[in-house]
Amino acid sequence: MSETTRHSYDVVVIGAGGAGLRAAIEARQQGKRTAVISKSLFGKAHTVMAEGGAAASLGNVNSDDRWQVHFRDTIRGGKFMNNPRMAELHAKESPQRILELEHWGALFDRTSDGRISQRNFGGHEYPRLAHVGDRTGLEMIRTLQQRVVQLQQADAAEFGDAEAMLRVFAETTVTELLLEGEPGAEGGRIAGAFGYIRETGDYVVFEAPAVVLATGGIGRSFKVTSNSWEYSGDGHALALRAGAALLNMEFVQFHPTGMVWPPSVKGILVTESVRGDGGVLRNSEGSRFMFDYVPDVFREHYAETEEEADGWYADPASNRRPPELLPRDEVSRAINNEVKQGRGSPHGGVFLDVSTRLPAEEIMRRLPSMHHQFKELADVDITAGPMEVGPTCHYVMGGVEVDADTGASSVPGLFAAGEVAGGMHGSNRLGGNSLSDLLVFGRRCGLGASAYLDELGEERPTPEAADIDRLSEEAAAPLGRETGENPYQLHQEIQQTMNDLVGIIRRGNEMEQALESLDKLRERVAAVRSEGGSVYNPGWHLALDLRNMLLVSETVARAALERQESRGGHTRDDYPAMSAEWRAVNLIVSLRDGRLQLRHQPIDAMREDLMELFEREELGKYLTEEELPPAPRSDG
Ligand code: FAD
Repeated sequence: MSETTRHSYDVVVIGAGGAGLRAAIEARQQGKRTAVISKSLFGKAHTVMAEGGAAASLGNVNSDDRWQVHFRDTIRGGKFMNNPRMAELHAKESPQRILELEHWGALFDRTSDGRISQRNFGGHEYPRLAHVGDRTGLEMIRTLQQRVVQLQQADAAEFGDAEAMLRVFAETTVTELLLEGEPGAEGGRIAGAFGYIRETGDYVVFEAPAVVLATGGIGRSFKVTSNSWEYSGDGHALALRAGAALLNMEFVQFHPTGMVWPPSVKGILVTESVRGDGGVLRNSEGSRFMFDYVPDVFREHYAETEEEADGWYADPASNRRPPELLPRDEVSRAINNEVKQGRGSPHGGVFLDVSTRLPAEEIMRRLPSMHHQFKELADVDITAGPMEVGPTCHYVMGGVEVDADTGASSVPGLFAAGEVAGGMHGSNRLGGNSLSDLLVFGRRCGLGASAYLDELGEERPTPEAADIDRLSEEAAAPLGRETGENPYQLHQEIQQTMNDLVGIIRRGNEMEQALESLDKLRERVAAVRSEGGSVYNPGWHLALDLRNMLLVSETVARAALERQESRGGHTRDDYPAMSAEWRAVNLIVSLRDGRLQLRHQPIDAMREDLMELFEREELGKYLTEEELPPAPRSDG
């Protein structure tokens, strides 16, 4: 029989990746009693897997860089669908957040004059990614954890208890948010969170007026993905069931370069730094095919010949960028097409070669993890020959609709930061912009939650007791069933459906088919059975995650079917062009009486001073006539 323990905090942060830790640190620094919960071991989050770096316009390698250029690149990368206020805050505040991380002990790679080194990445005009070899996320998490410990040591000295103000609950999974009042109803607000402890199977109730979602993405709903097991879209689903809205869930990023061979490692990421550091893409005919795929909107910024592209690495002022460094959506589609046209590599990808571009020792210095990964997993030496790569589901741009400044969702007391939040990256995220997003908006969420508490004063919402009993019963249900399907089988079917029917290239009839399949799967998932008991039982854990994966998959498929254009991480075979009318629309999904509802909402307009960062001609490629600023008057 499982026990239920209860805790009470001011702020509960769900997720201990970059966004969660930065939010928790801020809430604690604001004097709030804070809990951080992570489904995996403390320190194991996607943030730790990040390789290339964190984008911030420090201007250390090219002094022309500044926040306005970073803002412009981010908006171009997102194809003008980004929340402009988020993109502005991100571009302005990223340098401070990186320097703060350094102040807390992060050891970034250095320029020859001792400043934080910055590397090139797709879609960034200047070298902008602060990095630590190809293990940047590891250093980021190490530093944030060290900051947590530092704060706990201060609390030990002050209160005689290191966990008095900030406590980590590792291997604890939240299955539902607790509310006072009804989800989506007037007066409904956050009262805490409910979950289970993986090691013991016991239940746990966190009472808290403010909850920050920092649970990351949804990649585990797709068969080929760079994401690990904890990305089952829990935060997205928790937010929906609590009455919050999700924004633009159709935008899913397929990273162009995942491993394609051997099958057991298909999807594992090959960092964009390989291309940033000079790696080139070739098809089976030896052609550097990316030159054939530069879209009109980007043509003036990218090289037309190999000579110019190669010249850019040494002399970026006189040459344009290589097309391998186009935003990810463009490169993924190009690879997909090359393979489809029969010009792929033996295992269904294309070739990515850095061995002919850099000396072996330089590759080992700059890309040690990639060297290790290919040697160990595929028996390929990347200093001596090319890698085989192909697109892999990597990141979700859609997420919880939040206020840009505070991270607040539409449900009082519920906040979201990091990959689970939507808006910042528009229809396509630039590489490196996630790590800086986590720091900027993690901090802002910590501040937002603290300000919410200050407004509440002494008053505290109480979770409904009946809800807690119901949630324990629901969680235990898969263990008590005599019949029912195996959760691993159901998971595979969700992944296959999303991969085949709502993947990198989408068609209306296929997405309708996907929605039918997901609908049928819902009944089967509701009756899932897991063998064994509640003590450290991954089958049971997966059975509980399936409900979230299914709900999130449905939001992606519904929104993708609705958006009749191609833009960023949403490519439709039946609507191949971008449409200015669709750009002006955010797709908002919410859950009412157990059913998903989808509505159109006008996109936030960009302020005039931000609009002035772009030429009118460029704006004309994206915006409707009504949105365009007035044309300058000619006196002639
Ligand atoms: P995560 O870091 O994933 O943290 C999520 C946390 O939530 C985890 O602690 C998890 O256990 C917890 N959690 C989830 N569900 C629950 C639940 N129900 N209950 C309790 N806890 C829960 N971005 C860049 O900017 N630069 C890069 O170089 C880069 N490289 C990448 C390389 C790889 C291989 C991958 C996969 C991603 C990369 N990204 C990169 C993207 C970036 O790493 C992620 O977008 C980012 O780390 C997400 O951070 P987060 O804090 O939102 O979530």
